Amino acid sequence: MLEKLERICQVGIESIESAGNLDDLEAVRKELTGKKSSLQEVLKSLGGLETDIRKSVGMKSNEIKKNFAEKIKEREAEIVSSASFVEGEFDLTLPGIEVNPGSLHPITQMCYDLNDAFRSLGFELYSEDDISSEKYAFDNMNFAADHPARQSMDTYWIDGTENKSGAERLCLRPHLTGGSVRYLLEKGAPARFVYPGRVYRNENTDARHERAFFQYEALIVDKDISFSSGRVMIDAILEKVFGRKVRTRMREGFFPFTEPGYEIDMQCLVCNGKGCKVCNQSGWIEVMPGGVIHPNVLKAANLDPEIWTGFYTNIGLDRLVMMRYGVDDVRLFHSGDLRFLKQFK
Ligand SMILES: [Zn+2]
Repeated sequence: MLEKLERICQVGIESIESAGNLDDLEAVRKELTGKKSSLQEVLKSLGGLETDIRKSVGMKSNEIKKNFAEKIKEREAEIVSSASFVEGEFDLTLPGIEVNPGSLHPITQMCYDLNDAFRSLGFELYSEDDISSEKYAFDNMNFAADHPARQSMDTYWIDGTENKSGAERLCLRPHLTGGSVRYLLEKGAPARFVYPGRVYRNENTDARHERAFFQYEALIVDKDISFSSGRVMIDAILEKVFGRKVRTRMREGFFPFTEPGYEIDMQCLVCNGKGCKVCNQSGWIEVMPGGVIHPNVLKAANLDPEIWTGFYTNIGLDRLVMMRYGVDDVRLFHSGDLRFLKQFK
């Protein structure tokens, strides 16, 4: 009888050790300690045995039961610790798959940096659709009826609307400025906001011109705004973006929506003022046209020019990025050339 128990013990331990997973182990546990197990059969037959033998067989059976329980616990710990979440064959020696992280386009990065700089000065972010109309792009902006920018050689008009006028004559926005009146009609004054976006011009491309490019415009409308505070703001923004003082100069400029208008040039950072193809050998680059908002534009926005005043600043995003990285051809930004773009990671 004791020999039989010994065999049961041996076979039992072997099957515990060969259980490959928790399900198999559970099946083995039932088989070894369940009501129909060989061990249970032996215990059931104790009744017909002599007292001494019954005692020793009983002790041995309990010892085996305890042994099984311990071994099952050990095997369970082994299975859990060596378990893997990878199904099937997995070859650890194979080379891994290289992760190729993307990065922000340098123009997007510049736009975000400007957003941060302007927000720190209390400006709100605003955006509108890329499709505008003659009313918002030109009429509200005080463009004369025969202004050349209205011609199809400068502006992309939307097919089927060219013979209409005003709000029904649609175009790809040729500048962001039209969005200013939309904002002021929606939210009123006082206001200080920026509205970055892509604009479209039907022109020949060269190292400084593209048919679609990004602008970044800021507008302040308030009572008693001084012209000089605009200049201070622009210098502060440039210093934030470039991390150092940048030399600027202001020239007279003419734009239908300003009175007076100005052009702000910054010293060319590609050549540091010596002259290169980006600055057309002049050492300076136009980056910010703008000016005091024209009374007719304020009227288009339902604001009284006797009460309100304000000024525009239109930042050439592409130009600023060219200055930041010393890029000498604006067409590279839209080339989709990864060799170019990877440099800005
Ligand atoms: Zn230059």
